[in-house]
Amino acid sequence: MREKLLERIEAMGDMHLSTNTDTPLRKDAFDKSDTEKIENIQLHFRKIMEELGLDLTDDSLSGTPYRVAKMYVKELFYGLNPKNKPKLSSFENKYGYGKMLIESNITIDSACEHHFLPITGFAHVAYIPNERVIGLSKINRLVDYYSHRPQVQERLCLQIMKDLQEALDTKNVIVMISSRHLCVSSRGIKDKSSYTTTLEYGGEFNKVEVRNEFLNSVKQEFE
Ligand SMILES: [Zn+2]
Repeated sequence: MREKLLERIEAMGDMHLSTNTDTPLRKDAFDKSDTEKIENIQLHFRKIMEELGLDLTDDSLSGTPYRVAKMYVKELFYGLNPKNKPKLSSFENKYGYGKMLIESNITIDSACEHHFLPITGFAHVAYIPNERVIGLSKINRLVDYYSHRPQVQERLCLQIMKDLQEALDTKNVIVMISSRHLCVSSRGIKDKSSYTTTLEYGGEFNKVEVRNEFLNSVKQEFE
């Protein structure tokens, strides 16, 4: 029984399956303050290090549980907490711009939820406005916010797209992410050169010629 369960856990990590568009969160996810969370994670991480056999009386290691706990709550996973979500205020499309707007090479600094190892790469996002437009940096901020959670790349793509579709009041949004997963390059298959690319789109981007316009433009950036 236990063997089967462990097998399933490994397979889930390798296939990068995700179960839902929403990050699975507990109901009490944010009942505790950040300070309480840091206190608790610090204690647990200390246990992990001790179990690995590390001597935490050593000057170099003694502060590590606190540093890791603070990094998890305040930096790497700040995007779990909805209170940190950027406000996506949109504006009336006064100039009547009706073509594609592309924001490319947005940095992805994320972590895979199956191994808690870094995912690094780039997001390329585009939309074709209807009545509403959005400040450019808001797209970068939204990508940053959703990246800073334990993630699955497919879900990250969807979460960014859905929020932009809502804020812009149009389905005409495309999100492409190309990234490297440390869990693929440094463990398991240990492939150092492969990239994972995911693409989610709606509305006008369902048309192959519109999608190609986006893909060609993004490609040029790299030439
Ligand atoms: Zn992984």
